[in-house]
Amino acid sequence: MTQIIDGKKISQEVRDELKEKVATLKARGKTFSLAVIQVGDDPASSVYVGNKKKACAYIGIESLSYELPRETTQEELLKLVDELNGNPGVSGILIQLPLPEHMDEDKVLLAISPEKDVDGFHPVNVGNLSIGRPGFVSCTPAGVIQLLKRSGIQIEGKECVVLGRSNIVGKPMAMLLLRENGTVTVCHSRTKNLKEITRRADILVVAIGRPKYVDASFVKEGAVVIDVGIHRNEAGKLCGDVDFDSVSPHTSAITPVPGGVGPMTIAMLMHNVVEGSR
Ligand code: NAP
Repeated sequence: MTQIIDGKKISQEVRDELKEKVATLKARGKTFSLAVIQVGDDPASSVYVGNKKKACAYIGIESLSYELPRETTQEELLKLVDELNGNPGVSGILIQLPLPEHMDEDKVLLAISPEKDVDGFHPVNVGNLSIGRPGFVSCTPAGVIQLLKRSGIQIEGKECVVLGRSNIVGKPMAMLLLRENGTVTVCHSRTKNLKEITRRADILVVAIGRPKYVDASFVKEGAVVIDVGIHRNEAGKLCGDVDFDSVSPHTSAITPVPGGVGPMTIAMLMHNVVEGSR
């Protein structure tokens, strides 16, 4: 019987642990605050921002909300980021993406101080991860590691294959699995003989952004499969990059969509705010 990895339950565990930790540290005079910046009123972004604020409230982190009009200039945004960088009362800064087209996303994200970069996107934090130094780690791949560990799945010595090489998921995922002493292969759209490689995986992490692309023919019998993908079909139903019904009977453990990796991302953002500001 395959183990269905319950991301909702594990993310709640992480949130409850953080809530307890924050209460203890607050009693000693420590404060926690996350500055959340949204430019424009994209409805999906508003939902994500709302969820982040809710998570902050649950854990005991103050959220400072900056809802800027779409017409905000890049200079105005950079000025705000600069002020927040210099404000000792702000533990972390988050800029909800995507930004309006007239802004250079890379330039804006680079402006966030690495010490407040709770998304883990700044090159200093990416570099720290790759050379094994402490720093903020991208939330979704950090969440995958928690799912594996808290489900009793050993990474050390395992053949790990990461499908996808984006800067926010695939690459940091590979670095984290390596840090846990997995033997890691990264595949992408130019990989030859893809299935030969994915069928070697004891742990297969899929983050390619293609609905139900990975079927049973990609997977070794008894593998652990982690599905990072999120897609909504015309009927509003969510699915991942993995064809769950075809793949799950062949796995020893698998994440569902929804209820797998998704809930972990905000939990790990909260972890970054709390751990990063101590
Ligand atoms: P992305 O930036 O579009 O990157 C996709 C990666 O997959 C690229 O490296 C691409 O290769 C590779 N790829 C695409 N088609 C492929 C194929 N047929 N065979 C092999 N490799 C292929 O996507 P992302 O931001 O990493 O996101 C991936 C998925 O995760 C999306 O569904 C996204 O919605 C989801 N996601 C979920 C969360 C969450 O909280 N659960 C967070 C972030 C993302 P090339 O580099 O060669 O183009």
